[in-house]
Amino acid sequence: MADPVAELKEKVALACRILADQGLVSDILGHVSARIPGTEEMVIRCRGEDEYGLPFTTADAIRRVDFNGRGEELTERYQAPLELPIHGEIYKVRPEVGAVIHAHPPAAVACGIAGLELRPIFGAFNVPAMRMALEGIPVFPRAVLISRAELAAEMLAVMGSKEVCLLRGHGITVTGRTVEEATVRAVNLEILARMTLEVAKTGKVAPDIEWADIAEFAHRGPVLPGSERWVWRYLARMVERHER
Ligand SMILES: [Zn+2]
Repeated sequence: MADPVAELKEKVALACRILADQGLVSDILGHVSARIPGTEEMVIRCRGEDEYGLPFTTADAIRRVDFNGRGEELTERYQAPLELPIHGEIYKVRPEVGAVIHAHPPAAVACGIAGLELRPIFGAFNVPAMRMALEGIPVFPRAVLISRAELAAEMLAVMGSKEVCLLRGHGITVTGRTVEEATVRAVNLEILARMTLEVAKTGKVAPDIEWADIAEFAHRGPVLPGSERWVWRYLARMVERHER
């Protein structure tokens, strides 16, 4: 595909279908965006007359808008999501971010409501998720719709330079340099939340893993270099399999 924006739209649409396939989003809620490199614009999942929900997202629903949610590609058929400021405000202040995901994944939401902290309770089971927990996952305490720039700024004040933020009673915000990175990260965050929730249901308090084990990982660098690309391809193939 020659047109890079069209290619980006296809990728964002696929990310929406992956998040649905992995159980992070259902029906019509949640959105993915990607910065259009070298511009003050993004492509973002919109909703409108042709809406059938996230699992059925096509590139048609991914529209080009500026960081304040304005653009010629918004028509009666497609409107920008109410929580667009989550995306636009992040792109304005964090130039390293190339993609943003906002979703309401059930396990992450349940952990937020129950006040279960997402800690490094496992190691080799899922190293990227363990590292995420180790770095600390900020929690935005408000359950409001982030429909205004001021609210997004409040969330960003909590999130800082982190790649993930749990929104208590609401969902998650996840960033990445690329759509692939953000998508795999969001899936890993939900894996961490599911395990945290499963362990909490047993009534036992999960201890953090041993520091000696954490130190082993710290010296290693990426356990499987390039694995994020493989995971993205796996997730995309799973979508294809389920769409057949
Ligand atoms: Zn939301």
